Amino acid sequence: MVLPYSRQFIDDGDIKAVTDVLRSDFITQGPKIEEFETALAEYCGAAHAVIFSSGTAALHAACEVAGVGAGDEIVTTPLTFVATANVSLYVGAKPVFIDVECDTGNIDANLIEHAITPCTKAIIPVHFAGHPAAMEQVFDLAQKQGLVIIEDACHALGARYLLSRAKEHRGGERAEWVRIGKCALSDMTVFSFHPVKHITTGEGGAVLTNDKSYYDRLLMFRTHGITRTEFTREPDGPWYYEMHLLGFNYRMTDLQAALGISQLRKIERFIERRREIAGIYNRKFHSNPFFDVPAEKDYAYSAYHLYPIRLKEGYAVKKAAIVSELRRRGLGVQVHYIPVYLQPFYQQLGYEKALCPVSEAFYRSEISIPIYPAMNDDEVCFVTETLVRVFEDFA
Ligand SMILES: *Cc1c(COP(=O)(O)O)cnc(C)c1O
Repeated sequence: MVLPYSRQFIDDGDIKAVTDVLRSDFITQGPKIEEFETALAEYCGAAHAVIFSSGTAALHAACEVAGVGAGDEIVTTPLTFVATANVSLYVGAKPVFIDVECDTGNIDANLIEHAITPCTKAIIPVHFAGHPAAMEQVFDLAQKQGLVIIEDACHALGARYLLSRAKEHRGGERAEWVRIGKCALSDMTVFSFHPVKHITTGEGGAVLTNDKSYYDRLLMFRTHGITRTEFTREPDGPWYYEMHLLGFNYRMTDLQAALGISQLRKIERFIERRREIAGIYNRKFHSNPFFDVPAEKDYAYSAYHLYPIRLKEGYAVKKAAIVSELRRRGLGVQVHYIPVYLQPFYQQLGYEKALCPVSEAFYRSEISIPIYPAMNDDEVCFVTETLVRVFEDFA
């Protein structure tokens, strides 16, 4: 038995959705694109969704339409996939790395203000492992400084955030849970549909927003910067189109969108199962001597994209051997993440080592153990038993 840290869940309905499109007139840019966008926007509670060929393309598009460019700075965290920082470089901006909270791995909102300069244009918080970042604090700061917020929610489809200020708005009423993707405290939210994420389209991503002008530009950016509706000149004829900005071919196919629609119908079940598994792990591993389990703050309803355990000191130093042994015994554990600025490419750009000590300590101690909706109870049991046995051997 080899259990990966995450994997897709595909059923017959998903397969039929894709084959139906194969038999139809459009295999790309047909009706499924908009249908998926409408379903996604509705699920999250946002006004608009624009789907892209990948989460990375979606992040790139969000930076571009936010008006971030050469000489600007984007504040983010190093405890993420390299794509989060790379998109800053795509648009000519500099990623500025802020350290994380030691328990959630999310951006430490208390450190942001200190890092803001006249060049700062945007903040990209990452909802690490599916646990929402401290968005109210990030939002207040961004408001004060006039910064754009782009949520990297590639881990967090299905997560929710407790909006405490709903209380004030409604004269003492109960605080309100809002979905990540509603953009209640941000300008845009980005998702990925890679097979390890909550729902998959093979490759794919999306930007959600409530801003019509971002929406229009996202649509153009996805397809070479071309528009067929808004013209600056008198059309030459019915074939006419205009290019207004330098876009890309970042389109998703109808085959993929059909899969996305079918997957999205199962999202609640997927999240419930992930949370159920997390609940079992939390109980089994409660105050064990080897590692800490992930925190869930009062304001967070995590989507548990990952279940990141953090090894206690005596075990963190043996992590490489522990990971090898876990893999040998059939647990396809993974590590999230090597802090981005430690990558050779970023080192060569001049980022200092030890820039974010909490992120580095997190990296040294973290292991992501299997968690995905297709896991059955026997497999969950196999994970807990194997983990305990391996750690006892290393004690
Ligand atoms: C997966 C992921 C991305 C990139 O998404 P792709 O669809 O693989 O391009 C970006 N940021 C984070 C945090 C991710 O986990």
